Amino acid sequence: MNIKDLSPGELEKFVADKGLEPFRARQIGKWLYRKGARSFEEMTDLSKGTRELLKSAFSAGDAMELAEEQISTDGTRKFLFKLLDGKQIESVLIPEKGRHTLCVSSQVGCALGCTFCLTGTIGKIRNLTPSEILDQYILVNRYTGGSVTNIVFMGMGEPLDNLGNLVRALKTMTDENFLGLSPKRITVSTSGIVPRIKELGEQVSVNLAVSLNAPRDELRDVIMPINKKYPIKELIKASVKFPVPPRKALMFEYVLLSKVNDSDRDAYDLGHLLSGINCKVNLIPFNEAGPLPYRSPTRERVLSFQEILMSFGLNVRIRKSRGSDILGACGQLAAEYPARKIKGEKSAARVVV
Ligand code: SF4
Repeated sequence: MNIKDLSPGELEKFVADKGLEPFRARQIGKWLYRKGARSFEEMTDLSKGTRELLKSAFSAGDAMELAEEQISTDGTRKFLFKLLDGKQIESVLIPEKGRHTLCVSSQVGCALGCTFCLTGTIGKIRNLTPSEILDQYILVNRYTGGSVTNIVFMGMGEPLDNLGNLVRALKTMTDENFLGLSPKRITVSTSGIVPRIKELGEQVSVNLAVSLNAPRDELRDVIMPINKKYPIKELIKASVKFPVPPRKALMFEYVLLSKVNDSDRDAYDLGHLLSGINCKVNLIPFNEAGPLPYRSPTRERVLSFQEILMSFGLNVRIRKSRGSDILGACGQLAAEYPARKIKGEKSAARVVV
């Protein structure tokens, strides 16, 4: 087991169970997350006996290795990581003015099968461990000289389908004695596993993004099968109760699929659904990818959809597509699994590792 699989609380318990002083947990955390230690030998202010004890129970090395990096013509960087069992995942670093956002994966593949998402075509292979979630941030930061400022869980997988490990990783990220990141800079995105939204909110306070993508159940049932289990009304009810950090608003993500969910009627229905809710809406024109049967809407359609939503007093942003030439954009992550190979890639993107 990797020691980074333990949450701060679990590490404190381990330390107490072994009869060590309580401050040892903070000391170990500092070595792992502030000083970048990858072995217990490096933890020189621990006694030899303590280091031996830790070594007999855990490893402290990286949970993955960087297999490849691709750089998009727009500066977006996609990292392909090889896990210790040979499985692969991807993370995407999106540089913008004043912030560098890392989009991390929570699973190898995904079970939820949203029909507009390439990851969904793979199916779920397995959950990521806490150390595999954390190491995406740690390795990218190490590789890019500490550039990551924000983290979004919008990579491969449904984070709430891996709730226990997600929460462990989030606690390590936000504990001031461990990674010490502000919860305001972390966003978890979900397709809507309703009971888990409440469970997540009971354990951590981070930003929540709900991948909505349709204003009516009959449409959402088709593009997001999870909706048959947890329909829109229940999803909205659970989402508005989620404890986002102070001065932050709930986010709704809406992937615009040409002639599927981008009509004026859809915009009006969405406006009625969300009006009065303290939220932000992100419109994401679909990124055409491989075998998926959808098309991007025209720019005019996107602007008109936005205008209708704004007439309801909603705060609506159109998200610029980033990294689509390296299949790094929203819904395009599939690592080296078969779905990805269907697209004949011709781009100016660079492969650097
Ligand atoms: S959009 Fe998210 S939840 Fe849906 S299939 Fe893709 S990774 Fe899974």
